[in-house]
Amino acid sequence: MAAKSHVWVSRPLFDDVIARLAAHCEVRVEPDDEPLPSATLSARLAESDAAIVGPTQRIGAAEVSAARHLRFIAKLGVGYDSLDLPALTRAGIGASNTPDVLNDSVADFAWALLLNAARRVNAADRWIRAGNWHKPVGMGDWLGHDLYGGTLGILGMGRIGRAIARRARGFEMHVIYHNRTRLEPAIEHDCAARYVDQDTLLRTADALVLVVPRTPATHHIIGAAELARMQPHAVLVNVARGGVVDEVALAEALAAQRLAGAGLDVFEGEPAVHPALLALDNVVLSPHIASATLATHRAIAAAAVDNVLAFLGFGPHAGRPPNLLNPEALRVAGNASAAAPQPPRP
Ligand code: NDP
Repeated sequence: MAAKSHVWVSRPLFDDVIARLAAHCEVRVEPDDEPLPSATLSARLAESDAAIVGPTQRIGAAEVSAARHLRFIAKLGVGYDSLDLPALTRAGIGASNTPDVLNDSVADFAWALLLNAARRVNAADRWIRAGNWHKPVGMGDWLGHDLYGGTLGILGMGRIGRAIARRARGFEMHVIYHNRTRLEPAIEHDCAARYVDQDTLLRTADALVLVVPRTPATHHIIGAAELARMQPHAVLVNVARGGVVDEVALAEALAAQRLAGAGLDVFEGEPAVHPALLALDNVVLSPHIASATLATHRAIAAAAVDNVLAFLGFGPHAGRPPNLLNPEALRVAGNASAAAPQPPRP
């Protein structure tokens, strides 16, 4: 009987989801979510044929250099900027992510941040808890800005961006978007969204949501110059990745009231948050939880397991992981699939 493949899971997942893996493989699950020292990470990868890793686990050439058996990495979540995909491909290691299953949860959360930033919900909550509410609020106090009827700008009109756009109908907002590539007319129609250049997006939006992947091209795609083009009553929401926004420039714009508010779920140095942001009352902060609902986290875990099982030759997608990011990796000589004969374990 062929030896079972070894699968390492970098964080606790749902027991019943792991059980589907364990039916076919030897599974090792890390007991907590603590980031692993890089030597431990490399050692775990070296012991494994496949791995399921969290959204921020950085893996590149150094981490896989001793991983003779490793042939597949399934990332939990859709953004895969934490993986050095070219390095994994050169090493003949396939990688997958979990797109689509989180679109609606992330879109809901983007709206939570939009409404919160525009109507100052968290600031009001803090104000009450601090014991400040002693008399009726005046007509000129706590004024926010309407989202209703305004213009919603979306930078990155992909799977999640479109889910955000569809929700704008209920607010009777005009939706404009910018991508490098304009969408098909049928998709624009479905989202009731109009394509504009990036400058128009910045200058026209009353609320701007960022949902681009983190790549070299999107690093600080919103910096001081871009913020200066936005309307002073506008709000900015980032559910994409830290590093897409220049946080120092954003904090300066918010402090100077050159931008009314912001909602940030992701940060360049997370879990550290820039102190200038922490000091501001007109920014709402959340700890990278836009996809965090029970149903969606279960779906993300299940999708990652499906990808691993498919790679290992099990289930309805045997041999064809549904969310494979680098098919060329599996064409590297001798690495066609984990179902193919593997070098013997030491
Ligand atoms: P998609 O790939 O479906 O959409 C990304 C969009 O961004 C595409 O429309 C793409 O269009 C556009 N884009 C890419 N590069 C640029 C650029 N340089 N300038 C302008 N537009 C650009 O991804 P998803 O919608 O599934 O996810 C988007 C991102 O959201 C993920 O990469 C991830 O980082 C983040 N995310 C964050 C979560 C959280 O917990 N906060 C949860 C889930 C996702 P084009 O290629 O034509 O430019």
